[in-house]
Amino acid sequence: MQHLRTSPQLAWGRSQWRAAPLFSGEGGIRTRGRLPYARLASGYHRPLGHLSVGLGPVLDWPNYLAGARRQVCTACPAKNGPERDIPLGGRYDLSVLGANIPSAEALPQASAAATEKAARLLDRALGPSKVLSDRSSRERFAGDESEAPATVPDLVVLAEVPADIEAALRVAREAEVPITPRAGGTGRTGGAVPVAGGIVLCTLGMNRIKEIDRREGIAVVEPGVILGDLHDAVEKEGWFYPPDPNSVVGCALGGNVAENAGGPRAFKYGVTRDYVLGVEAMPIGGGRLQVGRRTRKGVTGYDVTGLLVGSEGTLAVFGDITLKLVPKPESVMTLLALFADVRDAGGAVEAIIANGLMPRCIELLDDATLAAMRAAGNAINPRAGAMLLIEVDGDEDATLRQAQRVADSCEAQALDVVVAQDAAQRDRLWAARRKMSPAVRRMAKHKLSEDVVVPRQRIGDLLDRVRATGERQRIRNVTYGHAGDGNLHVNFLWDDDAEVPRINAAIEQLFRDVVELGGTLSGEHGIGVLKAPYLGIEQSEALITLQRDLKRVFDPQGLLNPGKIFPRVGHRDC
Ligand SMILES: Cc1cc2nc3c(=O)[nH]c(=O)nc-3n(C[C@H](O)[C@H](O)[C@H](O)COP(=O)(O)OP(=O)(O)OC[C@H]3O[C@@H](n4cnc5c(N)ncnc54)[C@H](O)[C@@H]3O)c2cc1C
Repeated sequence: MQHLRTSPQLAWGRSQWRAAPLFSGEGGIRTRGRLPYARLASGYHRPLGHLSVGLGPVLDWPNYLAGARRQVCTACPAKNGPERDIPLGGRYDLSVLGANIPSAEALPQASAAATEKAARLLDRALGPSKVLSDRSSRERFAGDESEAPATVPDLVVLAEVPADIEAALRVAREAEVPITPRAGGTGRTGGAVPVAGGIVLCTLGMNRIKEIDRREGIAVVEPGVILGDLHDAVEKEGWFYPPDPNSVVGCALGGNVAENAGGPRAFKYGVTRDYVLGVEAMPIGGGRLQVGRRTRKGVTGYDVTGLLVGSEGTLAVFGDITLKLVPKPESVMTLLALFADVRDAGGAVEAIIANGLMPRCIELLDDATLAAMRAAGNAINPRAGAMLLIEVDGDEDATLRQAQRVADSCEAQALDVVVAQDAAQRDRLWAARRKMSPAVRRMAKHKLSEDVVVPRQRIGDLLDRVRATGERQRIRNVTYGHAGDGNLHVNFLWDDDAEVPRINAAIEQLFRDVVELGGTLSGEHGIGVLKAPYLGIEQSEALITLQRDLKRVFDPQGLLNPGKIFPRVGHRDC
């Protein structure tokens, strides 16, 4: 029998813990008895694991323990392999009744009493017009644009001013109820899904563009401003805000900052982080922090703004956001190039970059994506098996010259290169690109879109591997994305729940391939709930622990957007 290392570090200071079963195991963890749980003084429960059926129940912490990827759980018999011990390899830091619990955290869940208390406190602090409690209203805040299973929150707060955010956070803290910030709800990884129930804090009603400073090139916006509205407003003033996720008509700045959103223009202009100068941050512990600056330069203290950007709503809730703008380019030209296959398209991308060109977008569409576009009524040369949508900008002369050189760079491999003749044609091309995700969505009952990144010169290798995995697992896949950045959206499609184990195997294979090719799990959608189980494929345990520790500094009770980013007890389908 192997004893697990124990170093009690109760991060939940005033909580009282108790757990039912004892653990023992041969190089793994076994439990006799029922699912262990911990209970806080408030009646707030933390389940600590999932039990499998079989010879001896095995506690399932696969997502935390290095090398333990096989999942065993009563809830998902289809994906269970033969029962086996889960090998050790994780860090254990909590000791309960002589048993040992790994540091992977379970989801907090509010008891009925805690939820009632929260409802009472919210009513008192905000009044009924800003708090939704009837089921049909709450259902609208259960999901986002991902395959993360929807969870109906117990309460919804519609924030209109920063004081509403502060009040909602204070109530969540006092009642010990989870709270999940939300903006446009277009996230692709379940970031705004209240997986632990509790309160959804919707900031979409805070939608004022408070300032566009033409002299400094700075905009100050509330977190619910729709990105497309900001684009229009700053461009009227001769300025330009480059980040342009394809969800531009529905996503809001709060969500963009929380996800560090990118988009097609990121190749030349970078991502949201490159434009956030400062934020008004409201941590769950109380108060309003003015983080960052209003000047274009500044290096005072730690880069806390940088930490908050991309924190996926897990560290603090944003109020006002201060953004840097750049001058609006005088002229833009869009080119469309068709190729026999993606290898040729990849060769053209390399040629463009090798020739020292810096288009603002290079979007790649593979053969399956072109098939989806044809099915959606777009007439595309039937010989084409890949497409590049390329956009250049600058002053008039430079734009023309760049467009010519891009076309020349493609010529050797392309079947055809065309240039949009006017703004209307350009808009039509981009409208078709933006409709692609919904068009692909219609191809199957379920679509899971990953947003991996590999070094550009490995794009062809990645596509070969994706194809091989698709064939091995017998699942359909469609790939498109921001080829200039090596950021590809690999979409897996399926209709039948019986395919889920094969989809999961394909996703895991994709992530392993990406890391092997020198890439990263997410280029812009974040980790959220869907990719959390796989974080350990890319990041070391020490790095994950450091980030968990940072999270505890901001949120010691673990109540702000729990279940996101970090692997946790249980797994994604449970
Ligand atoms: C068709 C389509 C195309 C897309 N294309 C792209 C693309 O090209 N590039 C790209 O990067 N993404 C893309 N996305 C993903 C998505 O639009 C982005 O992640 C976007 O930034 C999410 O913004 P949102 O307002 O919808 O946020 P939500 O989905 O509401 O929330 C996202 C995250 O932000 C947190 N959050 C929300 N508001 C706040 C706040 N006030 N304070 C703190 N945290 C907050 C939430 O808790 C959550 O974790 C696409 C999505 C769709 C549906």
